[in-house]
Amino acid sequence: MNVSVACIAGEDVYRQWQAGKMTGQTLGPRSTPFGPSAEIFQAECDQAAYYLLPRHGLGMAKTSPGRVNHKANLYALKELGVRVILAWGPGAAVRHSIAVGDMVILSDVIDWTGHSSTFFEDSPLGFLRQMPVFCPNLSQAVHQAVSERKLSCHGAGTAAVMTGPRFETPAEVRMLGTMGADVVTHYFAPDVFLAKELEMCYAAVCYVVNYAETGSRHRPFATGDLFGGLTQRTDVQRLAASLSAMGPVVEAVARRVAQPKGDCECFHTMDVFRKRFPLSEDWRAWLTPPRRGE
Ligand SMILES: [Zn+2]
Repeated sequence: MNVSVACIAGEDVYRQWQAGKMTGQTLGPRSTPFGPSAEIFQAECDQAAYYLLPRHGLGMAKTSPGRVNHKANLYALKELGVRVILAWGPGAAVRHSIAVGDMVILSDVIDWTGHSSTFFEDSPLGFLRQMPVFCPNLSQAVHQAVSERKLSCHGAGTAAVMTGPRFETPAEVRMLGTMGADVVTHYFAPDVFLAKELEMCYAAVCYVVNYAETGSRHRPFATGDLFGGLTQRTDVQRLAASLSAMGPVVEAVARRVAQPKGDCECFHTMDVFRKRFPLSEDWRAWLTPPRRGE
């Protein structure tokens, strides 16, 4: 079966795999010029298939958010023929109208990671517009699939992306709020920028696991709980419902992509350069190879 959809997520995706909620085969990591990718699985569902990539790896071999090899992961998925990426990741609510257990379909990003956000380090090909940041068509399809499951979902939102793994200080959270961030997370950047350079659709679902710590008395962290915000039983139930939606929503998107209704502008991001430079038909030839020791 031709597979053109991938889901990038945390270890929660692998737990669903282990629990038998997702079935398929293990492909393992792939070798790339940027180093090995994370493990990749091929999942199968009714009428479609998709790849799963747990971005941190698995178990105790976990890679912290700041050390995820984004370029290797995106390269590996592109080489497998992926054209559409749906990313999931946890975040904390900066804006108090967003609640634990809500999902936010991201529409914009403030990238504070400091990671390289381009494959084109020494080339003119990296000058790309970022409006829209995420694929509007895919984001709309994801929003529809989530809404059909009667889950609380915000159709747009800005994520501030920090390096992690530590959580943000109260002053940092207050600063991010004044800058327009709705949620703060450690995910989705620079992936979204790298996917654009490889002409792939990319949409992101941030599920809210806690309230960012502002030092205010608004729903403070629960003592002894790593992600903190689950101070009420309903929070736990709402978050569990959000997480369990991931598999069915990815499957709905995979089925939709298997029967495309039209082209997407994301598949033509580099056309602006094709007009100016003799770009190879092989996308691998566009990329700046990593320097020794990188
Ligand atoms: Zn697109």
